[in-house]
Amino acid sequence: MTPSVDGPIVEHSDSSAALFARAAEAIPGGVNSPVRAFSAVGGTPRFISSAQGCRLTDADGNTYVDLVSSWGPMILGHAHPAVVEAVQRAATSGLSFGAPTEAEIELAEEIIGRVDPVQRVRLVNSGTEATMSAIRLARGFTGRSKIIKFAGCYHGHVDALLAAAGSGLATLGLPTSPGVTGASAHDTLVLPYNDLKAVAKAFEEHGHDIAAVITEAAAGNMGAIAPHAGFNAGLREVTRRHGALLIMDEVMTGFRVSPSGWYGLEGVAGDLYTFGKVMSGGLPAAAFGGRADVMERLAPTGPVYQAGTLSGNPVAVAAGLATLRHADHEVYNKLDANADRLAGLLTESLTAAGVSHRVQKAGNLLSVFFTTDPEIPIVDYAGVNATQTWRFAPFFHALLERGVYAPPSAFEAWFVSAALDEDAFSQIADALPAAAQAAATAATPGDNA
Ligand SMILES: *Cc1c(COP(=O)(O)O)cnc(C)c1O
Repeated sequence: MTPSVDGPIVEHSDSSAALFARAAEAIPGGVNSPVRAFSAVGGTPRFISSAQGCRLTDADGNTYVDLVSSWGPMILGHAHPAVVEAVQRAATSGLSFGAPTEAEIELAEEIIGRVDPVQRVRLVNSGTEATMSAIRLARGFTGRSKIIKFAGCYHGHVDALLAAAGSGLATLGLPTSPGVTGASAHDTLVLPYNDLKAVAKAFEEHGHDIAAVITEAAAGNMGAIAPHAGFNAGLREVTRRHGALLIMDEVMTGFRVSPSGWYGLEGVAGDLYTFGKVMSGGLPAAAFGGRADVMERLAPTGPVYQAGTLSGNPVAVAAGLATLRHADHEVYNKLDANADRLAGLLTESLTAAGVSHRVQKAGNLLSVFFTTDPEIPIVDYAGVNATQTWRFAPFFHALLERGVYAPPSAFEAWFVSAALDEDAFSQIADALPAAAQAAATAATPGDNA
């Protein structure tokens, strides 16, 4: 069915509202990860009861075209039959053994086969655990303490990475959350993304103390911001020259933007990589990997401790393997084509409504920035913060009411799946003009609020 949409088609969210109220009495803020609470856009988060292909169904029975894809993992669409079958088969054989399995080798080999600089892989349970472990390993390997990260890049909720730049010329990090000690954040230098000069200066001052630079291979957690041509290569060069490691965080881009992630598009080799999201097909698993000589410093072959009771869980591994094995060139072509098509529809409707904007892409990640000068690319976090993010909430809600589920924050990327079909695209095309109109007439902050 292709709904022809003139007005809102989602009329009830009573069940979601009741569940949200009940959840708030049992779970802080009613959610297990903050962005799900819709704080940035207001309104009632939808409680999802099921999903199939490119569609979500909420507790009130409304269906939505999904442009979040569980924040990335569901490249094949929801409940893909091959993945579900693999999970069922694995579960029938036992849920966890606390002992090695052959399937873990297969998943590690699949990753190694796709990403050349990765020679060894260790499986963990979340992207956060992957980056935390990679940083410990980089410090253990180099015997140094400082880390460089970039403002607006997110690497999970690792203490040392919940840091923001100090004011003025001070680059030593300050905690961005209560509970992160000054000591954890102080060893983190926070620099503007895409700014090699700032990196060079930090290495001049602290080079002998810097264990690693960690960067999103392409930034996706402040909206989609591709690295400038030469940025990642510059990081490669400066880290090598100073004996520091380069950690490419591909938790978001890995196995999504190409069969071998951002590495496949650019070819700049990191020393260590972190993966998550797509590689576990929607179950909780993640990985870090890289140069054999570095990875062999991990216990039990080396002294750097790292472990996990459920690491390499057989059900999660089965979901990851089935997802990667089904993600062939046809799937990647589809993801790219779907991202292009979505970007085209967004631009067309916003332009028609006279809304100044940029749709930016990093591979097949994309986001909409309500920027006053559409000719000027957004290249860093300061640039994102200067956009008219207040246009986003009405834009988002107009889409949601018309059955299109976009990410509930102006600072997040949009994730397509290969399962988006013609009906989904016509529903998006039908919903967009009203959403663009809502963005056009959004009240500026300060207007009689
Ligand atoms: C999602 C993400 C993480 C954290 O992964 P979790 O599984 O949520 O802990 C780390 N790095 C990047 C680039 C991510 O997008």
